[in-house]
Amino acid sequence: MDEKDDIQDVEIMPTDIVFDCPNCNHNLVVDYRAAGLQVPCSQCGTIIQVPIPDGMHIEDLDCDPGELLQQLLQTRRMLVKAEAAAQQLGEKIVEMTQQVAEYRKALLAVKARSETMQEAFDLAAAARQDIAKLIDATEVLK
Ligand SMILES: [Zn+2]
Repeated sequence: MDEKDDIQDVEIMPTDIVFDCPNCNHNLVVDYRAAGLQVPCSQCGTIIQVPIPDGMHIEDLDCDPGELLQQLLQTRRMLVKAEAAAQQLGEKIVEMTQQVAEYRKALLAVKARSETMQEAFDLAAAARQDIAKLIDATEVLK
């Protein structure tokens, strides 16, 4: 589970619940919002119940504490990822905008050229007709 990393990296806060795994005696630190929840031990993986500290009532928490904690952790991770993605996206958008501008320029150039080419074709066609007429005329003269 992802909680392992958080438990090991985070320094112990006054609100944290510190207890030992009943299976392997590994010292565990969890956020108070996980009180009463079943979590896997970060050491042995056994599903253990987080003790509820004295004076704390599960009902004090406005919603399922496990769900809330998971959501908070997930939201935090997503924010970090979203920030990185947004930064990359920002760079990508600048890159793409430049590329689109390049494409537009190239397209305009091609369009201008094709118009010129169309004119050239028309001129050439007209010229061929004139030449054909001239040839016909000379044929008649023969
Ligand atoms: Zn354990």
